[in-house]
Amino acid sequence: MPTADVPRALERVVRALPQGGEARHGQRAMAEAVGRAIHDHRHLVVQAGTGTGKSLAYLVPAILSGDRVVVATATKALQDQLATKDLPFLAQHLGRSFRFAVLKGRSNYLCRQRAAEVAGGGDQLVLDEVPGWESESGSGSIGSVASQARRLLSWGARSESGDRAELDFEPSPRAWAMVSVGPRECPGAHRCPSGEECFTEAARDKAAAADIVVVNTHLYGAHLASEGAVLPEHDVVIFDEAHEVEDVMIAAFGAEVSAGRFRALARLVRAVLPRDEAAVADELAGAADGIDAALAPHVGRRLPPRSDRQLTGALEVAAGRLSRASSALRSAEPGVGGEEPKPGGPATTRALLAAGHLAGDVATASDVGPDQVAWADGLPHAPVLKVAPLDIGPMLADALWARTTVVLTSATIPPGIERRLGVAAGTSDQMDAGSPFPYATNGLLYCATHLPDRRRDGAEGALHEELAALIEAAGGRTLALFTSWRAMEGAADALRGRVPFRLMTQSELPKPALVKAFSSDESSCLFATMGFWQGVDVPGPALSLVVIDRIPFPRPDEPLLQARRERFGPAAFREVDLPRAATLLAQGVGRLIRSSTDRGVVAVLDPRLAKASYRWELVRALPPMTRTRDRHDVATFLAGPSRSGEPTVSSRGARGRAGDAASPCRP
Ligand code: SF4
Repeated sequence: MPTADVPRALERVVRALPQGGEARHGQRAMAEAVGRAIHDHRHLVVQAGTGTGKSLAYLVPAILSGDRVVVATATKALQDQLATKDLPFLAQHLGRSFRFAVLKGRSNYLCRQRAAEVAGGGDQLVLDEVPGWESESGSGSIGSVASQARRLLSWGARSESGDRAELDFEPSPRAWAMVSVGPRECPGAHRCPSGEECFTEAARDKAAAADIVVVNTHLYGAHLASEGAVLPEHDVVIFDEAHEVEDVMIAAFGAEVSAGRFRALARLVRAVLPRDEAAVADELAGAADGIDAALAPHVGRRLPPRSDRQLTGALEVAAGRLSRASSALRSAEPGVGGEEPKPGGPATTRALLAAGHLAGDVATASDVGPDQVAWADGLPHAPVLKVAPLDIGPMLADALWARTTVVLTSATIPPGIERRLGVAAGTSDQMDAGSPFPYATNGLLYCATHLPDRRRDGAEGALHEELAALIEAAGGRTLALFTSWRAMEGAADALRGRVPFRLMTQSELPKPALVKAFSSDESSCLFATMGFWQGVDVPGPALSLVVIDRIPFPRPDEPLLQARRERFGPAAFREVDLPRAATLLAQGVGRLIRSSTDRGVVAVLDPRLAKASYRWELVRALPPMTRTRDRHDVATFLAGPSRSGEPTVSSRGARGRAGDAASPCRP
């Protein structure tokens, strides 16, 4: 495909958009760069600010390339947007025929084999087999689980896709577990009696015939970690929301051991082995108790397993019992290649596979190398042993960069991402597509430099005073983002009844309902924590002020980051903490301007943004807003734009410029 076709094709589809118009400069530049990257087999990293229209900017050249392209997204919202809006729109208006498919992880589809087994068995047998069912609460009675299972069976018989997302009700985890399998249990279509009619296999076949395949980043991580066993062959992968890629890949190349997995396996084993071998299942359940007891005291902390005798012992016992279970299952496994099937059938094969995967993870957890970190995650009553690579770069260098052309794009590309992800020097290009939104005139970045250090007595009171004054100036219309629940609840308690506006907190409603309530009540205020620094899109005057209580540095005791800090030594702050804080801060700031007519203020109540030696590395990650340290400027700005369209700021709050030492708003 000549890359010269890309701008024309983009113009054509942008003209066909409901609001019509021309391709924006940044969007066109990004589309051309993606087209060149695919054509020249070079990796590309694109920062594309809010409003760029980046999905069309990568989809158009991807489709025109004629290559098979996988688009990996981090959120369901973006996956849905691509599959139900952007790609159908392009199919109609691009003037080029192409096929696209969405592929999800195996546990998202009803498993025909499990469904057949459930339909053929009694409810009690079925409930006995549901992994983890007795530990779940709030999912209703056994009767309701059984009735949900019947509904699922009936739906499965009618459904064309078996995709859980197409259900018209939300099944309990127990009910869904009865009719689905995870990737660690499925033996694959060729070894499964229902393989011919398998929903997952049908979805894979569709993906294998498609030009554009939409997946989530976790599935792509599983594909890489399994040496390419999940997705069809492809030439290009585009990671949208690329700021999530590093964490997702670290998890994908790691391992997990929990008592829950042992108990689930014990139930599977009990269901398929003869009664006189029930001791094998009991032993697995006993191993689960040992792992729980050994992990519980360490939750939230790093684990050097070899130095903890109880944990080392629990893992050794678990490995021995898994080995015995596997032997027993192997002798009961159905024969292949014409041998007589044995009792248990496909369920035995699934149990054997689950045992094998668990044994692999136990082996990894028992021998944590110098390039890995292990820690106890979860809650004290349900701890999980996690192992992750300290450095994902070398793994991705082989599994990803050497084999596939990669495009990374996000509104916020974390500093140094290519180095951490293992991109070889000289093999990638970078671009910043900017944003079409007028940040310099429509956005004001205010840093409250007069606030005291948060560790000092009375600091919270001063912060609450400042927050109240800002909310008054904005007439409500505030999204306040906090770095902890404690800070959020403290501020909400202090301001409720003190500001004359409705004040909602994250604890009141689920996120979608809360965002809807906030956007429909224009003067309301929403106080929230980390889950709201991303994925809140409220254009218009209902969101005119974003307040950020602190620079969002990661917790010092987060085990994976702790280990990475040790590895980087004196450079740890700049290599580990600063890039994460800059990325998350930019995400939070990005909640303000969501359309070309939006106008408002971001107030950062952390003086370090204006005073710390590393301040510019944070500011450079933010949109190019006018900056001030003077709260009067905030009130003036929020009162309305000047006639010139320039932000109205006082002489003390002159617009800050990088390198302008005299600027009062210099961070
Ligand atoms: S291959 Fe068989 S066990 Fe695997 S998901 Fe499909 S129907 Fe279920």
